[in-house]
Amino acid sequence: MNKLNLNKSWNYADANESIDHILLKKQYDLFINGEFVKSHSKKYFNSINPATDEVIASISEANGQDIDFAVKSARKAFNSWSILDPKERGKYIFRIARMIQERAKEFAVIESMDGGKPIRESRDIDIPLAINHFFYYAGWADKLEFAFPNKYPKPLGVAGQIIPWNFPLLMAAWKIAPAIACGNTVVLKPAETTSLTALKLAEIIKESGLPKGVVNIVTGPGKTGSEIVNHPDIDKIAFTGSTKVGKLIQKNINGSNKRSTLELGGKGANIIFEDAAIDQAVEGIVNAIFFNQGHVCCAGSRLFVQENIAFEVIEKLKYRMSSLIVGNPLDKNTDIGAINSKEQLATINNYIKIGKQEGGDIYQQECTISKKGNWCPPTLFINVSQSNTIVQQEIFGPVLAIQTFCTIDEVIEKANNTPFGLSAGIWTEKGSKIFKLAKELNAGVVWANTYNKFDPTSPFGGFKESGFGREGGLHGLKSYLKFE
Ligand code: NAD
Repeated sequence: MNKLNLNKSWNYADANESIDHILLKKQYDLFINGEFVKSHSKKYFNSINPATDEVIASISEANGQDIDFAVKSARKAFNSWSILDPKERGKYIFRIARMIQERAKEFAVIESMDGGKPIRESRDIDIPLAINHFFYYAGWADKLEFAFPNKYPKPLGVAGQIIPWNFPLLMAAWKIAPAIACGNTVVLKPAETTSLTALKLAEIIKESGLPKGVVNIVTGPGKTGSEIVNHPDIDKIAFTGSTKVGKLIQKNINGSNKRSTLELGGKGANIIFEDAAIDQAVEGIVNAIFFNQGHVCCAGSRLFVQENIAFEVIEKLKYRMSSLIVGNPLDKNTDIGAINSKEQLATINNYIKIGKQEGGDIYQQECTISKKGNWCPPTLFINVSQSNTIVQQEIFGPVLAIQTFCTIDEVIEKANNTPFGLSAGIWTEKGSKIFKLAKELNAGVVWANTYNKFDPTSPFGGFKESGFGREGGLHGLKSYLKFE
């Protein structure tokens, strides 16, 4: 392979996105019944920029009384929203989609400041996809009878929705858009490290004229989430987050009439066969594990390479990694931004330590990183096996565990040997292999010759400890409806 010399002379000049147009308040309150209101707790916590350690804003912490107010508002709103002409419901959702679209750049910048993800990703992936979800489900609002013919679909009532920090606005859109399109009302809680885009969305919802109480956005830590889960007047819990918390929630609602969907963790297998287009596969590996710093539930964090091409793939991968730019999330050249929080960085570093202790060979890209903020260079582990902790557990960071295989049956067995079942990728030029693996891999989504592709029309969800229920597409509507 002819290698380019990627030394300093190849460095890009900074291309920082401007933050002049960003309108952020110093302090945010709860969005309940169509207004921003103070929490009964009178407590606030800071939202911190993970690339600079600077406080961006202080955010209200909702307590049990606030959740009760939000649920009561949602219940009251449900009485009229659920019987509103579905065409009118659709119009509101279309309006929200267009309003986010008009302010897409502002949302993208805030998402990168608050969460640490590269501006290219928030600008080109998170925000457009969130907008698409609102557009897509707005279109279904008056066509539910056609989506489910002769089944007479009816909304469930009040949905309690709890989301993680890795795709803040997108996860809010995944939850809110199908729920309200079906005639439900919602109480949504963003993750405590990334509340800002959900609160900006609340501003848009207020401006859109959406009837009061249809969408309530409450902020706070896990305790606030558990107040939602345990509220007696919630009809459905939609949770996206870790398997640990998902199990706790399921235990708490057992025996109640609450319906639930749980979108949990993953440990995706990305499988490269000898007949794959190697250079494309290498790009696919990079996208599968380093997209969004690896903070992706469906990340391809376990790489399986057919033995006879393993050397070539790993060499090319290391070379490709040497050109990845780690740094300022607001720089348009950046490939890998900041780790979302100090806690998450500590978790990742602990897994890296365990990986080394258990005998894995580590390779990390050399890069200069700022003293402030939370950073982790793209990391590979080779010489690991099925029983290694870093092969079994979700790291949720830019850390890839590489194994090899000889036969198709061997790789199916290895790929399925995990408590999770969310995602997988296959790289081969043979359609027959793709069909065989897609059938036999225990994963909710299987990509062929690509990875991490998302679309609002396509259902997404897991098996085993990756949860149950589907979001996206028609399946995503079903979770918010009951049928006669
Ligand atoms: P987390 O489970 O710690 O938190 C998720 C949300 O739950 C947060 O809003 C948090 O405040 C809240 N929460 C915490 N404890 C709670 C409790 N006892 N009761 C109710 N709510 C509670 O997860 P995280 O660290 O924010 O996110 C990372 C996890 O999310 C990863 O495991 C990732 O795989 C998963 N995830 C899954 C999907 C999917 O679609 N399957 C998508 C994105 C992220």
